[in-house]
Amino acid sequence: MKLVMLGPPGAGKGTQAKRLAKALDIPHLSTGDMLRDAVARATDLGRQAEGYMSKGELLPDDVIVGIMGDALAESRCVKGFLLDGFPRTMAQAEALDQLLESRGDRLDLVPLLAVGEEELVKRLLGRARLEGRADDTEDVIRRRLEIYTAQTKPLAAYYRGCGVLSEIAGEGTPDEVYERLESVVKAQVA
Ligand code: ADP
Repeated sequence: MKLVMLGPPGAGKGTQAKRLAKALDIPHLSTGDMLRDAVARATDLGRQAEGYMSKGELLPDDVIVGIMGDALAESRCVKGFLLDGFPRTMAQAEALDQLLESRGDRLDLVPLLAVGEEELVKRLLGRARLEGRADDTEDVIRRRLEIYTAQTKPLAAYYRGCGVLSEIAGEGTPDEVYERLESVVKAQVA
């Protein structure tokens, strides 16, 4: 199955994506994880990414599209994949469509984890204290949410138009959310 997991920062996307990919036995491709890894290893990409990430800004589309194009070309992605953190702009969504189309593929399902803004800020600030992520200060969190609303949220309407969007309530415990996600995926397979 080929999936894109959508949702604002703090919605629990990463946690749910990891679990679902494992259950479906497909690679979980997280741009956030890839970029944090590149920063930790101080690669060229990492040095480039650091400034954007610490401000809550997005990296240029061509950089991200290049990375994800390479990742999706790996043989382990042939039977399916779960994208987490990509696409994040309409330009990225269009690039992904073209990439998939060129190999006769298309997305099967785009779950959208929906969580209200107040709850998001609360969760992100809590995580900032626990994990000390460099991009989890209050100003940067607000910037990330702003960018999500302006650049990423429109993808929901786009994927709804393609008939692949499925909105899932992201409130509740991680197990509760996962159950909802799982039933949407099962319905898709059936
Ligand atoms: P969040 O927890 O806010 O959803 P991620 O862990 O997915 O964030 O990504 C962290 C940061 O990495 C983003 O704020 C952005 O700077 C960069 N990034 C991740 N994915 C993309 C993308 N598809 N396009 C541009 N920048 C990205």
